This record gives sequence, C-alpha cells and structure tokens, in this order.
Amino acid sequence: MITQERIGAYIDSLSCSNTPFLNRLESEALENGIPVIKRPTQSLIRLLLGISAPETILEVGTAVGFSAILMATYAPKNCRITTIEKYEKRIPAAKENFERSGFADRITLLEGDAAQILEELSKDHTYDMIFMDAAKGQYMGFYPYVKAMMRDGSILVSDNVLQDGDIAESRFAVTRRNRTIHSRMREYLFTLTHEADLTTDILPVGDGVAVSVLRTNAHPGETGGM
Ligand code: SAM
Repeated sequence: MITQERIGAYIDSLSCSNTPFLNRLESEALENGIPVIKRPTQSLIRLLLGISAPETILEVGTAVGFSAILMATYAPKNCRITTIEKYEKRIPAAKENFERSGFADRITLLEGDAAQILEELSKDHTYDMIFMDAAKGQYMGFYPYVKAMMRDGSILVSDNVLQDGDIAESRFAVTRRNRTIHSRMREYLFTLTHEADLTTDILPVGDGVAVSVLRTNAHPGETGGM
C-alpha cells in the first residue's frame, strides 16, 4: 500500500461496495492466492468507466476474471470486453466465473501469450479502453501493439507500475532479480509520459496506476516531461 495506511482505510470505508457477486469472487480469489486488482484500483476503474463510457475494452491479464467482470458490471451495457490470459490453470476458472456472473456473452477470453495475441489484434482492432495488468517486465514489449490499438480518446490504464515504491529507488538499491523489471518499467513510464499524443498521470493508487489518454490533436506543450 503506497498511501498512508489510515488514510487508505478511511477512503476505502467511503467507497461504495461492489456487487455481492464481485465481493464473493474477490474473497475466493484472495483465499486461493490469485491476484486481483486492489480496492483503490477498483474504485479508480469504476470512475474511469463512468467518465469515458467505453464500448470496447481490452484487458491484458485475466487471472480468474475478477477485473473483467468488474468492468462488465460498471461499463455501459453495450460494452464488449476482450481479455487475454496465458496461464492454463486460470483459464477454466475464468470461463466458469464469466458464466456465473451472467456476463459471458459480453466477455471474450483469448487464450495464449499476450505478446503474440496483441500483435495479431493490433492489425485490425482498436479499443476505447485498454487495461494492462500482466507481467510488469513485459509492458514495454507490449506497448507498440497497445499504442497501435488506441484511437482519439482511448484510455490506457497500466497497473502495478510503482513496484511497492521500488521504482523511485536507484537501480543499485533494487535486488538483482528485480533490476531488469525495474529498468523496463522505468522505460515504460518514461515512454508514456513523453509521447507527443499521450497525456499520462502516474497515480500512487493500489500498486501504482498509470492512466494515459490519447489525443490525436494534442498540443506538444501539454504532453509529459519536465
Ligand atoms: N486483472 C486480474 C484481476 O484483477 O482480476 C489480475 C491479473 S494478474 C495480476 C496477471 C495475470 O496476467 C496472471 O494471471 C498471468 O498469468 C497473466 N499474464 C502474465 N503475462 C502474460 C502474458 N504474456 N500473456 C497472457 N497473460 C499473461
């Protein structure tokens, strides 16, 4: 948790609760050690869905479907969600959860490695919102395909970008194991904040979330950087 614990708990106490189905799914996932987006990130996504009312969403990293079902619950009723997962053990659970949720007709699960699937999708698809929630070290590799699938007004939400605060540390203060992920994530965040047609803010919410919007007519002075 990046924000002070008491403040975070207070804000959480004010946040409106999810549906009973989502609460059950979240508890089941956490009991089984399955990662799901944190409560503050859930609130942020609900807000972004309310503001942007996307009709198409692409998610990278389904796990057992919690965030896809959350998005289906709070997006407009005509919104279609495509979500990608490669971990074979999680795919049947995600499919079952989509059925149980009643949103199976609006959520399409693509099975396999996002690296290949994104390349294929980027040839002829665009999305109103893209939610990146897979292996952190791969975001930079996914980025060219993800960017190609954004159009004017598309929102890109990238989760887990602050790495428990490690991202702000010198590379020498990070364990050797995490050094590559650390430098790739720094490169990713630098790219998001310095692209001429993207406006990005990096929020210390949950595990750190970067929210970017693409504007084809962005003024160069309005984009990121110092
Ligand atoms: N979005 C989910 C939620 O909140 O309910 C949690 C996703 S979990 C943090 C990340 C998932 O991404 C894992 O289930 C993992 O197997 C999947 N993943 C990681 N790298 C991937 C890749 N290259 N292609 C497809 N899935 C990947």
